[in-house]
Amino acid sequence: MIEIQNVRKSFGSLEVLKGIDLTVQKGEVVTVIGGSGSGKSTLLTCINGLEPIDSGRILVDGTEVHAKATNLNKLRQKIGIVFQQWNAFPHLTVLENVMLAPRKVLGMAKSEAEAMAVKQLTHVGLADKLKTYPSRMSGGQQQRMAIARALAMSPDYMLFDEVTSALDPQLVGEVLDTLRMLASEGMTMICVTHEMKFAREVSDRVAFFHKGVMAEIAAPAELFGAPKDPELQKFLAATH
Ligand code: ADP
Ligand code: MG
Repeated sequence: MIEIQNVRKSFGSLEVLKGIDLTVQKGEVVTVIGGSGSGKSTLLTCINGLEPIDSGRILVDGTEVHAKATNLNKLRQKIGIVFQQWNAFPHLTVLENVMLAPRKVLGMAKSEAEAMAVKQLTHVGLADKLKTYPSRMSGGQQQRMAIARALAMSPDYMLFDEVTSALDPQLVGEVLDTLRMLASEGMTMICVTHEMKFAREVSDRVAFFHKGVMAEIAAPAELFGAPKDPELQKFLAATH
């Protein structure tokens, strides 16, 4: 599980995370919503150790992410992260792009990495794109490739940061369907998203961030049906 305990984080004089507490259980899907600049992306980058924190602790399966003794490379293999956009290597095929990390980071043999890449690309519905180059794919296909690439490392946790925000509206659905599939398979996920319908349907819990504070967290029916925090009420009124 992922345990976030009283995490504070500043960029210069700007405090971006103001004492965040959140525990995500194995198999749980937590979505994070909130306005721009509320600290959502920063939280994800702190969880996988891309950013240091100022105080508090983050534990992944009991290992403290920001402890000096922690092998971050090893820990990050457990935590797949997919961003708004991923710049694939343009001179490599889709298959070769997905094989890269298992080969380089896990030291997999070529045949093994290829089998894993084919498996994950098939899983996200790209079995017919193995020999295609990334630039020939739609934005939705590229995002599914990015998800396959993360899955090829056999992560225990997946973090998604607004993976549909850069997509044309007609391509959003196919990527959300992929996330739904992972959720239904029991993947432990934290999804930052603007897609409220998706959040409502897929989440075990939804967390609302406002100015570096987790202002509310609840099951979706409760959070959307009877929001308590005034800022959340405003936010939901504006997104509907
Ligand atoms: P969100 O993802 O909720 O939009 P972020 O976590 O990206 O918010 O950012 C929170 C705040 O931290 C914003 O004000 C942003 O400008 C600032 N910020 C994010 N990353 C950096 C950085 N590397 N250096 C300085 N400020 C940053
Ligand atoms: Mg963000």
